[in-house]
Amino acid sequence: EIGAPHSASGEEVWTHDLSGVAPPARPARRWTPKRVVATPPAYDHPHGLRIMARLEALGLEVERLKTARLTGVRGENDRQTYARAKSTLAVVVSPPSRRKLQPIAPSADWRVDLAEGCPAHCQYCYLAGSLSGPPVTRVYADLDDILDGLADYVGQGRVTSRRAARRDEGTTFEASCYTDPLALDHLTGSWQRAVEHFGAWDAPVQLRWTTKFGDVDAFAGLAHHGRTRVRLSVNCLPVTTRMEGGTSPLAERIAALRTLALDGYAVGLTIAPIMPVDGWREHYGELLDAVAAAVDGVPGLDLTAELITHRFTPGSKEVLLGWYPRTRLEMDEETRSRKRGKFGAVKYVYPPDVMASLRGWFSSEIAARLPACRILYWT
Ligand code: SF4
Repeated sequence: EIGAPHSASGEEVWTHDLSGVAPPARPARRWTPKRVVATPPAYDHPHGLRIMARLEALGLEVERLKTARLTGVRGENDRQTYARAKSTLAVVVSPPSRRKLQPIAPSADWRVDLAEGCPAHCQYCYLAGSLSGPPVTRVYADLDDILDGLADYVGQGRVTSRRAARRDEGTTFEASCYTDPLALDHLTGSWQRAVEHFGAWDAPVQLRWTTKFGDVDAFAGLAHHGRTRVRLSVNCLPVTTRMEGGTSPLAERIAALRTLALDGYAVGLTIAPIMPVDGWREHYGELLDAVAAAVDGVPGLDLTAELITHRFTPGSKEVLLGWYPRTRLEMDEETRSRKRGKFGAVKYVYPPDVMASLRGWFSSEIAARLPACRILYWT
């Protein structure tokens, strides 16, 4: 049960253990929402009904709302609203704006959304500032229409050097921009269906997603035909244990990477957000060694890495401080470099000397400790 908010004080520490990275002996961590609601249009879609049946089979009562508007989420203060929203699952139809796909460099050619929101409590969550309103998790009932619509985008989009780095993966679709798939798939089955959809698709395409959860047993054995790349979002233990409330322990994620790689999936690491915490070389070295041990002996291993340093915007900082008022996450503008992104938006990144030393270390240590791993990009 990960419905309870992570301690906003940052004092709560999950005990994770990397020794041996043996497959977990206990069942994977699964979210059980406290409240489940469905909007009327969700009942008009076959996948909406499938989700409802799945939820009811899990013993969850689905509350049918009278209109498409979500109600009963606002509390008496921001903390209460946050806690209520984070423990609510809504089955809805995707907004029309989400059906027109957007390019999503550098992680893929196109972004496809099967849900929005996430029940975990990462203190740096990249959804802060990207999504508006209380952070309710919404899952999309019109999955079949969403997947059918992807054919229009195959072969479209800009050919970039990054796509070239992905070799022959074809048109890539990223399905985890605004959510964490494996936090939700046990409740929806949406990503399992997406994997099978891409597996049956006779075109050069790839489905991609990244996750901080290790609940992959339902994916082993699916007819994926190598057209899905799952990246495990990982970090060094000081970050995963102190800042990633409600996610799977790092050892479970690394074990999941092995399970998927052994099942023939293309796999990857999203190492994010990289932070120069005290002793970072030693801690990230331990992470790379644990991954190397986990993929040792995997036949035909196809492993990539995406390296993303921590950054924040004025908007995301404000939202995160509202969610986690006593966080220990460093967001000090004085120690950062200010950059302007697309459309002039300001973001704060590490200064050039810190970036150079992080980048140099990751390039050389991945080459040395994980020689089979292709680095897709650094940012
Ligand atoms: Fe945010 Fe990802 Fe953490 Fe979920 S798992 S809270 S989406 S950073």
